[in-house]
Amino acid sequence: MRIVVRNSPAHVLADLDDGDAFALRAWYGNASSGDDEAIALSVIRRVKVMNGWIECDCLEAQHQPLLAPIQQERTFTLRRLTPKDNDPGRHEERPNHALACPFHVDKDASPALIDRGYHLRPPPKSDRSYIDALPAIPDRLADVSGQDPARSSERNDRPSRLGGVLWRMLDRAGTNVIPPLQDGVDFTLANQLSRLRSASRELRVLRTWTLNALLSTWGPDYWNPESRWQQLLATSRGDWPVGLRRTGFMLLFSTSVSTQSVMPASTSRTIDILSKVRQPLRGDPATRRPFLTLLNVDFQDDDEGPVRAVQAYAQPVYNGDTLFPVESGFERDVSHLLLWLQQSLFDAAPELRISIIKPLFAMETPIGLCRPDFVLETAYRDQQPRRLLVEAFAMETEEYRNAKEKTIPRMKHLGPIFAVSPEDLTEANSERTGRRLQAWVVDKIGNG
Ligand SMILES: [Zn+2]
Repeated sequence: MRIVVRNSPAHVLADLDDGDAFALRAWYGNASSGDDEAIALSVIRRVKVMNGWIECDCLEAQHQPLLAPIQQERTFTLRRLTPKDNDPGRHEERPNHALACPFHVDKDASPALIDRGYHLRPPPKSDRSYIDALPAIPDRLADVSGQDPARSSERNDRPSRLGGVLWRMLDRAGTNVIPPLQDGVDFTLANQLSRLRSASRELRVLRTWTLNALLSTWGPDYWNPESRWQQLLATSRGDWPVGLRRTGFMLLFSTSVSTQSVMPASTSRTIDILSKVRQPLRGDPATRRPFLTLLNVDFQDDDEGPVRAVQAYAQPVYNGDTLFPVESGFERDVSHLLLWLQQSLFDAAPELRISIIKPLFAMETPIGLCRPDFVLETAYRDQQPRRLLVEAFAMETEEYRNAKEKTIPRMKHLGPIFAVSPEDLTEANSERTGRRLQAWVVDKIGNG
């Protein structure tokens, strides 16, 4: 990346080093450490002072995407200078960022609903037990930014930070793992929620408050000031540092969501969300339900009123018993195939143990990060355990496919790959696909 003259990007003012570029991307992609944010902030300030723009370097093309520094009171952020698709006078010299670049602009009609970071999420910061206390409302936080100006200028289309919190809970609770049938796990919504609660006991919002203590999994609590949850939120009041807006969380299995509301299964009422409900961008929105939704609340503009849901992240799940995360209706179909595979091989070979894993974070390989759609871990008697990957190749955009193609060589470092397309799961083909997958798994284990 480099700093170029505003409105005349062919003229270079200064180069940004790799550390600066890394920090900017990490900040924008919500994958930053405190150090990254400090660097990002200083870079944006510097560009602002120089009255320049930042030229990205994510494309292999003559013209690179441009970013303009913006200052709103004490808050700094970057605006992405990308023309609208249907703008007749569009600037050819202002291309969109590469799909894998965190600055990529989504041209979907509802950019606030989606999460582009899905295929290249950062690895989990496993050493951290704190979760980020969340800004209540992005556009209002611009003026309460004393401590952390860069962070509070959150844009709607950045990957959802609530999503990040939810994935960490799911990961810690092992909700993204269907264990071998030999373990005899009894899947119920109540069991799964209680495991998630245990995991959230290990995450802290404040020094003295765990995520679990500030979390409700019971929809009606939202309207009940006498509920234990709301009582605890009130008790926590004095422990919130000045400058952090106090918040509470609800984790709700939801039969459906809309742009600005969540329909929890535990109540017939609907919870309206002040900003938008975010969810991963994969496949047809009509087939994504049901969801596991994490939302956070504040206490109205004066911090005195009744709880108010401000943001939500809706993670599609396989069903309400497992809460196994999927990212689309098609991934749900593929999960169904994998559960069938697990059962059929258990019947045929009771000593063969198979776990089904949905990776929520990127995995490291010698040639970079990747996140396979599904991983099967197999163990048979005293043979070496094996890791097999199953990739769901849905009918996505060309752009998405290209991005995925890039990570396939990385995935090959993790294990052999079995590809499933929607065509494979049609009524006419699904049985044959199942047999083919069975034979493939048996072959891989045999040749392990
Ligand atoms: Zn870029």
